[in-house]
Amino acid sequence: FAWLERADPEVAQVLLGELDRQRDGLQLIASENFTSPAVLAALGSTLNDKYAEGYPGRRYYGGCAQVDRAEQLAVERAERLFGAEHANVQPHSGASANLAAFAALAEPGDTVLAMDLPQGGHFTHGSRVNLSGKWFHPIGYGVTPNTEEIDYDEVRDLALAHRPKVIICGATAYPRQIDFALFRDIADEVDAYLLVDASHFIGLVAGGVVASPVPYADVVTCTTHKVLRGPRGGMILCREELAQRVDKAVFPFSQGGPMMHAIAAKAVALREASGPAFKAYARQVVANARELAVGLAREGMRPVTGGTDTHLVLADLQELGVTGRDAEARCDLARIVLNKNVIPFDPQRPALASGIRVGTPCATTQGMGEAEMRRVAELIGAAVRSDPGTTGGASRLADVADGVLELVRRFPAYARQEV
Ligand code: PLP
Repeated sequence: FAWLERADPEVAQVLLGELDRQRDGLQLIASENFTSPAVLAALGSTLNDKYAEGYPGRRYYGGCAQVDRAEQLAVERAERLFGAEHANVQPHSGASANLAAFAALAEPGDTVLAMDLPQGGHFTHGSRVNLSGKWFHPIGYGVTPNTEEIDYDEVRDLALAHRPKVIICGATAYPRQIDFALFRDIADEVDAYLLVDASHFIGLVAGGVVASPVPYADVVTCTTHKVLRGPRGGMILCREELAQRVDKAVFPFSQGGPMMHAIAAKAVALREASGPAFKAYARQVVANARELAVGLAREGMRPVTGGTDTHLVLADLQELGVTGRDAEARCDLARIVLNKNVIPFDPQRPALASGIRVGTPCATTQGMGEAEMRRVAELIGAAVRSDPGTTGGASRLADVADGVLELVRRFPAYARQEV
């Protein structure tokens, strides 16, 4: 960091400012985490400099002995940790991993069946604004109005009616475990591939606290930077018979040179995720999310599906008469970072939304437990109910911000020398 401070004080200030922001606020974005200093060290390393198009032992550049080793370590660790026959650790992101999976399994124009975006799905699964929705023919399934859980009957009916080439499950705002065996049955019934996007919960799979999709899916895609606590990036796991197609779909079909510094950092994160401490972490992530769901319900914010099995809670704010957009803005003023989110069958448009999504990966990495989650729910409740446009609203938000500072200072995210 001293180098950077001398060479570019402006960017150095940004880094320090971000460190302060992370430390002095409550980070509840469900897709974020605090990576370890070891992961950050691999990321900020000379492996960044190396071109290595191709795969270990089959590169289009010389000088790849060291980066080959890094990639082999990442691949071996991913295969061992998830019991996968094949791993590709080169995708630059979750979106890149999904693009490659589409390319490996389908042709443009093919029908794909995936969860609708407003019901919790991800935009790379067939949304019209994304290549997946422009080049493929997406059919959307959703959740049932009464349980707010995936409507498996609808999935089966749509699969039988549309005979998709690929069925996708795995969402971005869905708090429950997915029945992969049932998805496998439906895919087999219509001779479709099953693609599981495990981005949100792959860390919970590593920690052994949710079921693994690997035995059921043809292809599993994921990010490496959410609960898994690695560098920003993507990864693909698949059966051996699809290995070549997946590898070719990543390089050269959709990517060029792999980011070897990120791949080394993925190797570090995968090693960390293989240890007993990570299992305890994953258990605590879920215990914390459950406690948070109970606390939010107490504050008048109804957890969608009645609770959670994972690291996130989707809360319905309609009873409080506050939109997701206002809740997010009020929380922001109180040093609480979360995001507005549509809820199933949301009467509001997405820019306003009726819900918020909160996740526990960051707070759990900081060492917070259930007792702290009860306090976090109170702080969120107080912030959401404080309208800064009304008398006393701004000062109440300032009081909440003080409460947040008091809490997070007991659980510092990073020591300054770590970054
Ligand atoms: N898939 C799912 C389910 C996600 O939640 C996300 C990101 O939040 C992605 C894919 C995309 O990942 P990335 O932002 O790395 O492209």
